[in-house]
Amino acid sequence: MNLQLPENVRQLAPDEEFNFSCHPGVDCFTDCCRELELALTPYDVLRLSRELGITTSDLLEQYCLIECEADDIFPRVYLGMVDDGRAGCPFVSEKGCAVYEGRPGACRTYPLGRAACRNISGRCRAFHVLLREDHCHGFDEPVLQTIDLWTTDQGLEPYNQFNDMLMTITQHIRIQNDMRLSAAQQQLFIDTLYDLDGFRRRNQDRRDDNDDELLTNAVNRLRRELFG
Ligand code: SF4
Ligand code: SF4
Repeated sequence: MNLQLPENVRQLAPDEEFNFSCHPGVDCFTDCCRELELALTPYDVLRLSRELGITTSDLLEQYCLIECEADDIFPRVYLGMVDDGRAGCPFVSEKGCAVYEGRPGACRTYPLGRAACRNISGRCRAFHVLLREDHCHGFDEPVLQTIDLWTTDQGLEPYNQFNDMLMTITQHIRIQNDMRLSAAQQQLFIDTLYDLDGFRRRNQDRRDDNDDELLTNAVNRLRRELFG
């Protein structure tokens, strides 16, 4: 796939190597956890809520901003930054990320970026780019990475899997053919996919015993409700 990319971004070949490591010894440690726009996926909200030991309902209320601009098809959920003079992530500390085991997919993926799309038969294609930012000194570390090594190291498989599952809604053929959601449908998108504990409460007949099944069932339910 050939793309028009900014100068500091380049597409990576599947087995291409690059130097990168991030650890408390780098002089930029936690710099990237400030002044950032951090969009959350439903799986991010699920994992963060479990890491913090609170419900998805409480996570959304206490830590998130939900926005929907006039041109947006689906609402967006962001992690709210803290007014500490540097717009810091609420979970950044001197020692690093306080929710490391439940940190969002975007935090895990950097310095890579992953984009995926579905073709007409529903098959998913993904490609990766490398984002080289001057403030990040992880590129100076003598550790060789590949897409696969980084994906495994950062525990990204379930994040990618659920993001791809979400495309069965966000890239549905009817959306591609200009279907737009009503305000009620946009609210249903949030209530079903992001507030999974609320979804479980409201559907007590559900048999999804674990969180992964719950999210899978929520995606399937919402797809049926939106597209029949
Ligand atoms: S969740 Fe953790 S890794 Fe992500 S921005 Fe916040 S502190 Fe940094
Ligand atoms: S700027 Fe780069 S090396 Fe520094 S903490 Fe962030 S990801 Fe790690």
